Amino acid sequence: MAREFLHLLRLGTHAEQDYVLRGRSFFDAIVLNANLVEGSKSAIAVLVTRLQKPYFIDPVTYAFALDPRLLRSAGPGNPRPKRSFSALAAAYGLDPGFVGVRPVTSDWFADDGAVEDFAAHVIDYQRTAIGNALADDAAFLTSELSDRAKWVGPHATLAPYFVEDFRDGWRNVNVRSLSTHASATRDLRGGAIGVDSRQLTPQNIAELAGTYAETDLDQAFMWLTNFDEHAATVGQLAGYARLTQFLASQGKAMMASYGGFYSLLLAFRGLAGSSHGIGYGDKRDLEPLVGGGLPPARYYLRPVRDFVSLADLGLVAAGISEDEFRSRICQCTICEGLLREGGVDGLIEQFTETEDRLTATGRVVAVATPRAYRLTRFHYMSVRAEEFDLIRNTETLNLVLGTLVAESRWVEGRLGLRATAHIGRWHDAMEMTEPV
Ligand SMILES: [Zn+2]
Repeated sequence: MAREFLHLLRLGTHAEQDYVLRGRSFFDAIVLNANLVEGSKSAIAVLVTRLQKPYFIDPVTYAFALDPRLLRSAGPGNPRPKRSFSALAAAYGLDPGFVGVRPVTSDWFADDGAVEDFAAHVIDYQRTAIGNALADDAAFLTSELSDRAKWVGPHATLAPYFVEDFRDGWRNVNVRSLSTHASATRDLRGGAIGVDSRQLTPQNIAELAGTYAETDLDQAFMWLTNFDEHAATVGQLAGYARLTQFLASQGKAMMASYGGFYSLLLAFRGLAGSSHGIGYGDKRDLEPLVGGGLPPARYYLRPVRDFVSLADLGLVAAGISEDEFRSRICQCTICEGLLREGGVDGLIEQFTETEDRLTATGRVVAVATPRAYRLTRFHYMSVRAEEFDLIRNTETLNLVLGTLVAESRWVEGRLGLRATAHIGRWHDAMEMTEPV
């Protein structure tokens, strides 16, 4: 029997809507950040009704506690607070004057009334944002979309949350938010647990696990900030596995907020699902770097379950036959189409296509063409879908690990340990922990 494991896709920007609709067969449910919903409600609402899949709204309340400069619009001159975050603060019952000026602190929620009021607004927002946007949209009411109204409500609502840094008293606010949510709803009691992964000592893991096991939580997203599955030590990876396993053993359905293939291995440690973005969304830092332009296009190399540069794709695929490409690297629809068109060389040419662009400082740089971006992203979505199927349909962890190690060995011969070292660490971390 297939193992249940939910595949969630997180919409990162409005520009990604096309990937979501065209790639709708690749995932089970979608996660929408509340600031994105607030930024263009009717477009998102129409997307949800066209998609006809369960959705969650991540209330992103933690953002209000970050460095306020992150909530200001980029660009020269007098930076103003981002409109979507000001509107969101107001929708959450906060006076938006603080947005972009100062962060919220846990003292704001010192008394229970403040937590209850905040949680009620945040939950209500998730329940009604899409429905209200559609009600305002005359085109929707008269169109064939209206019979899709059953997709208008979220799959579950998430209590407000702030990132645990083991200092500022946020855990107390988080736990009180969860219990307010639990007593106010008959739906699935959802939440999100954000933890600064740099603080994940065994002691802190035990504390967290104990605290959240006591809450009335049915289902929760787990976000380890600044956590990179590919760079993490065996100890950190095993700590993540133990936290997941303990909460799962207490009946909490945990899902990774941002996960790569390691989070899929955690299906064997009780994880119930994993979410990722369309571009490089298998990890997320607490404070994103602002600016820097478009990241370079990269290729998701299935045998090592990691992104590599396009130069590395060239090295890996040098001199191999089409059939070898299919069996060792990829045979998704995108790669298959490119192989048929122009063989391995043609495929590499298409993925690595660049165009010259002028930078703000007047330099000419070669950047991936929009088509090369599209190809690498659809390839990624397609391979991820295949990975979720692998996890659902393989009986034991040992079989998955065996495949993983065997497939990566060939890449190691071509790119060296730098491309494959994480596989050994994943293997060791899984061996150090027990199934639920
Ligand atoms: Zn492919």
